[in-house]
Amino acid sequence: MKRQNDAEATGEGNDLLCSVGLGHGRRVDLLRAADWQRYAWLRHGFSTRAGGVSTIYDSGAGVGSLNLGWTQQDDPANVAENRRRFMAEVTGAAVQAVATSSSGPANPCFLSPVPYLVTLHQFHSGMIRVVEAEDLAQGRLQTADGSAVLRGDGMMTNIPGVFLGIQTADCVPVLVADVRRRAVAAFHAGWRGTLARIVERGIGTMRLRYGSRPRDLVAVVWPSIGPCCYAVGEEVRHEFESQFAYAPELFSEAYDSDPVREKYPMLFLTARAPGHSDIGPQIHLNLWEANRRQLLNAGVPARRITVIGECTACAGLGTDAGRKYFSHRAESGFTGRMMAVIGLADAPTKVAGADG
Ligand SMILES: [Zn+2]
Repeated sequence: MKRQNDAEATGEGNDLLCSVGLGHGRRVDLLRAADWQRYAWLRHGFSTRAGGVSTIYDSGAGVGSLNLGWTQQDDPANVAENRRRFMAEVTGAAVQAVATSSSGPANPCFLSPVPYLVTLHQFHSGMIRVVEAEDLAQGRLQTADGSAVLRGDGMMTNIPGVFLGIQTADCVPVLVADVRRRAVAAFHAGWRGTLARIVERGIGTMRLRYGSRPRDLVAVVWPSIGPCCYAVGEEVRHEFESQFAYAPELFSEAYDSDPVREKYPMLFLTARAPGHSDIGPQIHLNLWEANRRQLLNAGVPARRITVIGECTACAGLGTDAGRKYFSHRAESGFTGRMMAVIGLADAPTKVAGADG
């Protein structure tokens, strides 16, 4: 698949990224938008495969991977440790080490006073949640072992110390921050959520709830399955055409990505002229552009929107490091989860004693 390398070859967005290490043992490589570093009160990050303790999703390279989802295959203790490492990087806080007890492994993200990580039972909907202080006070956001309570695919908050986490393995994570009112939002936009306009509607909710002005918003579309690899059915194109006037700009056709055909070309030899085979072109959907258009339609200035442009299905293939991200499509569902996290830094704590 020659096309696979297109996203990497462009190098798009690479100058916007930085990766950081944990300082001991394996590195937690996470992506940040360099443009966002100027906001001292804002914390954010997007994980890669690298830097965790999970082994189930590795290809034998002997390096632990950073699965951040409570998947059926992985050990919950690994996920808890991975989340602790990742959140320590995102927040810059010294998150306490994993604690275990007779009742089994505890979730250190939950035990730590900060950060407080909120996730959702995502179900490819347009449902958006607003995280309020009273939800936090009444413990309505996470279970004791760190699992999600709320269902939905978008959330927002303006409470310092609350971190919103969207889990993905191909779907599009979009993070938004209002740099004037200091509110943040996180969205999970696969094709169904994109069709439901979750990002466009989410910004409408920010306007209502926080008085956000679109020109004060900054947004990042994080790595997810790209137009290079995201083949969809004709019915998906019809759905998008029924909803978006710009739908034709979101689809492209590709002929070169049928692995069966590449492996057994003799099966497909016919007397027909090229282009008249029974196998037609695949339809590829560009969810990055679809969500960028929703941000633009909601009034976010183009210069404040960053599309990282790395494909979760093919970024890193062909290199020694291997696939850079977890990909549900490319790994036939047996894979881990990345996380896109955003939050307001906790209010600075007063330090007592002579050192303060
Ligand atoms: Zn790709």
